[in-house]
Amino acid sequence: MSAEIIDGKALSASFREQIAQEVAEFNTASQVVPHLTAILVGDDPASAVYVRNKERACEKAGIQSTLIRLPVETTQAELIDLVQRLNADSSVHGILVQLPLPKHINETAILDIVNPLKDVDAFHPENVGLIVQGRPRYLPCTPYGIQQMILSTKMETGGKHAVILGRSEIVGKPMAMLLIQRGVGADATVTICHSRTQNLKEIVRSADIIIAAIGQPEFVTADMVKPGAIVIDVGINRVDGKLVGDVAFESVKEVASAITPVPGGVGPMTIAMLLKNTLAAARILTGNLSN
Ligand code: NDP
Repeated sequence: MSAEIIDGKALSASFREQIAQEVAEFNTASQVVPHLTAILVGDDPASAVYVRNKERACEKAGIQSTLIRLPVETTQAELIDLVQRLNADSSVHGILVQLPLPKHINETAILDIVNPLKDVDAFHPENVGLIVQGRPRYLPCTPYGIQQMILSTKMETGGKHAVILGRSEIVGKPMAMLLIQRGVGADATVTICHSRTQNLKEIVRSADIIIAAIGQPEFVTADMVKPGAIVIDVGINRVDGKLVGDVAFESVKEVASAITPVPGGVGPMTIAMLLKNTLAAARILTGNLSN
């Protein structure tokens, strides 16, 4: 039997509808419009598309969005200066620095100076630390969205073996942290694989939940998937002008119990979670926590 296709677009739309309602209620109670400011340095076409999608989603949810576009030759000092100004601007609740930054700018140096309360991507070490300690302020958007997708399948995650392919700071590592927390949509036994992992195929084959985030087109093939596993494909790869994931979708869907498509899977959920975090940031920064 073919797997359930986890429709990230539809799931994201229902989250965004709920968030729009919460934004309206928050606005009525506080007179505050949540405000996300995104910074885009350079002219990477994929980044420009991501930022535009985020802006559009904000507008639809009643969240103010500002995009600051800077030329590729922007210096690190200029970018630091801008982030510091946004940190001090009380009308801005969320700051998003679109990655990757041009090579001459140290990404860590920039992400480290974002006010942790405005860090809606949850990349700041303070927010990462809070996640590791099991008392998160914000959850990183992609892993947060993936957790919601797994929850949507109604599969019990407690005690299950989740194998994560990729150990990046923005997907792999925080994903592992979320899945080993106590509670609903977590309590899993987690293995993280990376480019130095031995016996990777065997490890993946033992997974009840596979999360592929390595940026290798169609790397996960049907023979690596245990029948009935949930397969989450985070990868976005451009092959001959087409978007493909890290999973060989057509064959794997015949083995898995549920699978996310690319496009239309994890990407839209990432954006919904960004909106959720921006509303949370507006609540925290304005002290309106109850509405
Ligand atoms: P990174 O490039 O930062 O990390 C890739 C990871 O994959 C590394 O840990 C690397 O190992 C590992 N890896 C690479 N090749 C192999 C291999 N052959 N076998 C095992 N491990 C391997 O990636 P990101 O986490 O930033 O992104 C991963 C993918 O997800 C990309 O395609 C990206 O475009 C996509 N993405 C999608 C998002 C969405 O919203 N849908 C959001 C973020 C990312 P090592 O550490 O040893 O080098």
